[in-house]
Amino acid sequence: MGIKFIVDNNVGKLVKWLRIMGYDTLFFGGSSDSGMIAIALNEDRVILTRDTQIMKRRVVTSGRLKVVLIKSDEPEQQMHQVITALNMDCEYGPCTICLECNQPLMERSKQQVKDRVPPYVFQTQNQYMECPACHRIYWRGTHWQAMTKKMKNFMKG
Ligand SMILES: [Zn+2]
Repeated sequence: MGIKFIVDNNVGKLVKWLRIMGYDTLFFGGSSDSGMIAIALNEDRVILTRDTQIMKRRVVTSGRLKVVLIKSDEPEQQMHQVITALNMDCEYGPCTICLECNQPLMERSKQQVKDRVPPYVFQTQNQYMECPACHRIYWRGTHWQAMTKKMKNFMKG
């Protein structure tokens, strides 16, 4: 089981990056810290936020709830901080989570997606995944490769 996250709206850019890496990540769009904390405790999620007030909460100071207080404004620096703080694997599960819905993707055969992907994709890709919620089809094509490469590069440097 990997780490699961809930991301505060002040660091919302982290959502997509974490899902690209394959981490189950909820976006919290509300304004109530208590609401976010309740979800985190219920679902065993790590909170990512820039809100220093949350750090003073008893559930956090006692260590019951894990929070990473994000320091930078820059999404790449933010990702760097999270990955380092939690000792995460950049290639944990690329192409396993829907980037829009946060649902685990299901494997699909080439024949099952035949009429649902562009012809050039069908010719060049053999592995496909489908989101059970929004039915978007994913494949480990250039988009994914470019994102993963970018992530590895900034982790190096
Ligand atoms: Zn989806």
